[in-house]
Amino acid sequence: MQLIDGRKVSEDIYQSLKEEVDKIRAVGGKVPHLAAVLVGNNPASQTYVNAKVKACEQVGFGSTLLKLDENISEDALLDTIKQLNENNDIDGFIVQLPLPHQIDENKVTQAIMPHKDVDGFHPTNLGRMVLNLPAYLPATPFGIVKLLEAYKIETSGKHCVVIGRSHIVGSPMSILLARNSNPGNCTVTLCHSRTKDLATYTKQADIIILALGKPYFLKKEMIKEGVVVVDVGITRVETTTTKSGFKLAGDADFDDIAEKCSYITPVPGGVGPMTIACLMNNTLLASRKEIYKD
Ligand code: NAP
Repeated sequence: MQLIDGRKVSEDIYQSLKEEVDKIRAVGGKVPHLAAVLVGNNPASQTYVNAKVKACEQVGFGSTLLKLDENISEDALLDTIKQLNENNDIDGFIVQLPLPHQIDENKVTQAIMPHKDVDGFHPTNLGRMVLNLPAYLPATPFGIVKLLEAYKIETSGKHCVVIGRSHIVGSPMSILLARNSNPGNCTVTLCHSRTKDLATYTKQADIIILALGKPYFLKKEMIKEGVVVVDVGITRVETTTTKSGFKLAGDADFDDIAEKCSYITPVPGGVGPMTIACLMNNTLLASRKEIYKD
């Protein structure tokens, strides 16, 4: 079994982004600038947004953090998005999800101009991804593709089972791995909460992507020898082994299945660090106007 080290691969991405920023500075150019919008006080969202701001500092990007009140109206948030769309200093921006109940997430996602949508959630970017056209790819699936690439894991002709069909992870992941590209060319089965006898599919899988948010879900009797397991799940579970009384758990029962896998991502330290690194990568692409040329 080989551990897939997302921290190491993400550090390599940060290093190459830093080198790009140095080159831009050397010729007096404008460094990439990412803005993040945080609505309310959700602790997990605060942690994610802070990590994104820190990543900008690490690679030398400019960053702006807009903290908005939990009770902000939908119109006021859409107005902020309009201002960010029109602000030429900002190359790309994200609105941290989830949003409070008074705000329609779809409206927000669609209000972000596609050329600034570095999260890759806008229908234009998702549509371009489906058509295999240049697009900002959603950061978590993009990070998984980069991990498979970094570890030279063969995907062509393999059976990949993706569990979870969210718009931000499972669905785009299934599309990316089914595309005629490398990594890609998998035969993909997309499973969800209505899938009957899920183990029938996981037992046949060469690659399993777990994105369901159910800690320790995947057990050794559900997989075949030599499978590649990529675990996206992150859930805070109670434990007596840490001072805080909590730890992060993946969707795989790591200790149970690890020996049966050819490759496996740990939680934490697998997919998580790649998500932010890929968001930074998209921000560099946005500043270079490589996806949308005008
Ligand atoms: P989500 O929107 O809650 O979607 C969960 C998906 O899993 C749904 O499609 C659901 O099916 C399916 N599901 C739930 N229980 C199931 C079961 N018992 N069997 C089969 N399918 C089941 O979740 P998400 O936003 O994609 O996130 C998934 C996990 O990844 C969470 O733990 C989240 O914290 C983590 N995550 C990590 C990163 C990272 O950077 N590492 C990024 C994003 C998310 P239905 O559609 O039928 O309801």
